Amino acid sequence: MKRWVYLLTSAILLTLLVGWYTANANTDLSNSEEPIELWYLKSETPLSLSDVYENDNVQWQRLDSARASFGYTRDEYWLRLFIDAKDYDRVLHVGYPLIDELDIYWVQPETIKTYELGDRQPYYERPILTSEFSVPLPAGESGTLYMSARTESSMRLPVSIRSEQRFFDAQMQKRLAEGIYFGVLLCMAVYNLFGFVASREPEFGLYSLYTLFFGGLMLSLDGLGFRYLWPDSLFLQDKGIPIFGSLTFLTAALFAYQLLRLKEYRTTLARGLFVMAGLSVLTFLVAIFASYRVSIHVLLVMAAPGCLFLLIVGAYLWRKGLVYARMFTIAWGTLLLSVMANSLGYLGVIDSMFIQRHAIMLGSGIEILLLSWVLAVRYNEQRREKLEAQERYNEELEGRVEERTFELQIALRELQDVNTELEKRNFEDSLTGLYNRRYFTQQLEKEYRRAFRNQRPLSLLMVDIDHFKKVNDTHGHFIGDQILQGLASVLKQSAKRPGDIVCRYGGEEFAIILADSLQEQAEAFAESLVKRVRKTRFATDSGARNITISVGVAELDSAAGQSTERLFKAADEALYRAKREGRDQVVTV
Ligand code: GH3
Ligand code: MG
Ligand code: MG
Repeated sequence: MKRWVYLLTSAILLTLLVGWYTANANTDLSNSEEPIELWYLKSETPLSLSDVYENDNVQWQRLDSARASFGYTRDEYWLRLFIDAKDYDRVLHVGYPLIDELDIYWVQPETIKTYELGDRQPYYERPILTSEFSVPLPAGESGTLYMSARTESSMRLPVSIRSEQRFFDAQMQKRLAEGIYFGVLLCMAVYNLFGFVASREPEFGLYSLYTLFFGGLMLSLDGLGFRYLWPDSLFLQDKGIPIFGSLTFLTAALFAYQLLRLKEYRTTLARGLFVMAGLSVLTFLVAIFASYRVSIHVLLVMAAPGCLFLLIVGAYLWRKGLVYARMFTIAWGTLLLSVMANSLGYLGVIDSMFIQRHAIMLGSGIEILLLSWVLAVRYNEQRREKLEAQERYNEELEGRVEERTFELQIALRELQDVNTELEKRNFEDSLTGLYNRRYFTQQLEKEYRRAFRNQRPLSLLMVDIDHFKKVNDTHGHFIGDQILQGLASVLKQSAKRPGDIVCRYGGEEFAIILADSLQEQAEAFAESLVKRVRKTRFATDSGARNITISVGVAELDSAAGQSTERLFKAADEALYRAKREGRDQVVTV
């Protein structure tokens, strides 16, 4: 997909999120419908209602704002406000879900209504089931309302009063917004879990877990987990934040390690991430075994440098030119900015209820979406790389196979050459270069069959040098050999027709197969041969020499069912007759 499609999609998502949060901010629950005048006092020891009720010894102090916030404290805080009667039902709302103990006493002329709230109490015992704390103010009732609060988390008591109808409208909108937010988180967790199952890439699984734990953290912060998921677990309500917080950091560190392939880049950074993961495990153990106050501080001490470290890792790899690192950094940066804005909001530096309530949701929503996107992009890229590598490998393989095949073909051709050479040698007479006796026997059989099949004539000449022994005896075998070679070339030159086969039968005897030749033709050929040899002067090292030959001629009588042996014998007999009758002549059977 093109880059601008990604950008457009993110822009639309961002606009939707911002629009939704802005719309939601207008119906913020903490905006009280009527002005509230709050008084407070703080005590290091627990007090009872009678200790503070119309007691001149206690010094109530005016609060400037209905959003009481006192930071982390072990002290008990009391709030007091006067409530006029109205002719419609109203709800008093304390918009912070993490107060451990919140007792509300509504002192009316005749009675005192007491509510024991706080997240140390089972959720379903609340008078109105909201993730924060709300008590009904029925129509026509008035009086003085006292609240005492103790908590291990930060002491925030944003008080608001609104009509019951408005209150529930706003609650619904808030739920809707939360529903969308947690829906997105759940979708991402499930989607990436499927991604993990399908691809077996650990980063998908880690990211899915990260999203789940982050969701758990947000549910704990919001009080929604206590309301919907673990209403009976006071343990989780108490320790949800450090438990989910540490698990979030653990998975974030491992996820970053996997996503950014840190191994390949810089081992110090990779080691840093492992240290972060180790610290997260420690924090997790602390969260389970130590008190909330201890574990939340350990978590915060770990979280600040941890977040910064992740940001540094991302920025470093961004500078190295890693594409995913850029998006990773933007995602983390967004989350950190939102956390910072949120903190500044709580510290009073930014006086915006919108930022206080929604910055983290908005920031983390964007972060979660961006990271999931990074994962998808990265997976695609990785797959493309794999495919390319595969293709390259295949090409290489093909090339190699081609090369081998070529080499094999050459070897085969060489082998064939050697084979033909060997075959040739097998049928060759080494001294004269003529065919040898083996070839003669084979060939005679072949020609005989052909002649028989086609009813064609076949003649055989047997040639023998006259008195060759004498030549050897007089001039030596070496000269004899030279004469043999000379005669061989004369025979070869004479028997030039395609059907003619000249062989050295052995010693100074030669055989000539004349395919397709009648006896008369063979005889004529033999006569010319004898004449030619007689005239030839054979060059030797001891000067030119003359020799004569005797030739026996026979023709195949296929009608009489002659065999090759008979043919050979006939030619041989004719040769001996030629010898007997004076040599240097031709005799035909
Ligand atoms: P003829 O055939 O006329 O009766 O007499 P010849 O002397 O040729 O008779 P024979 O067949 O008895 O002798 C053949 C001689 O050929 C014997 C041997 O010395 C000679 N000879 C056979 N093979 C070779 C060879 O390869 N090289 C040489 N130099 N001489 C050979
Ligand atoms: Mg002989
Ligand atoms: Mg001889």
